[in-house]
Amino acid sequence: MSIRSRLRVRTRLRSIAHRIWPPEPKPLILTYHRIADDPVDHWELAVSPAHFEEQLDVLRRTRHPLPLADFVRGLMAGSLPPNAVALTFDDGYIDNLLVAKPRLAAADVPATVFLTTGFVDRSGGFWWDELARLILLEKGPRSFDLMVRGESVHFDVGTEPPMRADGTSKSAMLTRRKATIGSIWRTIRCLGDEERELIMAQLRSTFANGNYRAWPDRIMTSAEVRALVADGLVTIGAHTVNHPTLSALDTVACHHEIIKSKLACEALTAAPVESFAYPYGDFDAKVRDAVKAAGFVFACSVRPGSACAKSDLFALPRIHAHNLGGDAFEQALRSASAAGEA
Ligand SMILES: [Zn+2]
Repeated sequence: MSIRSRLRVRTRLRSIAHRIWPPEPKPLILTYHRIADDPVDHWELAVSPAHFEEQLDVLRRTRHPLPLADFVRGLMAGSLPPNAVALTFDDGYIDNLLVAKPRLAAADVPATVFLTTGFVDRSGGFWWDELARLILLEKGPRSFDLMVRGESVHFDVGTEPPMRADGTSKSAMLTRRKATIGSIWRTIRCLGDEERELIMAQLRSTFANGNYRAWPDRIMTSAEVRALVADGLVTIGAHTVNHPTLSALDTVACHHEIIKSKLACEALTAAPVESFAYPYGDFDAKVRDAVKAAGFVFACSVRPGSACAKSDLFALPRIHAHNLGGDAFEQALRSASAAGEA
């Protein structure tokens, strides 16, 4: 039997074993971004409202949902129920207030929203959303060049026709277009905001014919953030000002991004803000120290796994919540518990 076949058999046996003897639940922190029906969800950041309701039902039935701060305190004190769960939402999209909040309230499940404060009260959205929608929805040329830091970089989307706005497509996978989004993302993620905007402007002039809507959704305004936290069910954490790759910044800029977002969150909510989430989950020792020095009590990473008393308070693991119905979501929670601690 080949190694691959053996691995397949082992995975299959493990999944059967988990069904018969479900693994003990372990404390989990979940990451959501948007609760929305988005047919063009390239980054898989949206959970549909219907699926979200099913997921909340699973959490109510099988888990012990806690506010993130209580979850972390219980974790450190060793008093956390093993089936504890905390919900987090990154970035601060408006649907967190309009779609997620009423459902969280109906299920009485608390959550923390990590806010990218520079986008509050500003029109427009995140560059990665626009990048994906441009390349997926606009026909554009077969190949094109972008000037990146004075050097010409060549990209080729091949002959695939673009996706329709309803998410359907003549080409099954849109492999070339999706690969192109990935390579542009890697090329421009660590650039400064102005440099990146120059490249986005090149992309708009190369691709945009007005068929695409640049952003799937906007970020909340100050008034909307205050409405979100008014009854105490949802709390706010900081997620920097401009959503940079923090490890690529110099020390001063890194400190500014972290401290200014804390102050902005505290000004918005008139309460201390103790939690932080690293944009893209990116951090190194210098960034971690800066978050600690800014006065945060804990910080969330995107390292998958369950949380335990030994977890690094400034790199708490989180599980990405996919757009799954109740049964598949319950299975995903079981697998996350079985996968162990991070
Ligand atoms: Zn983010």
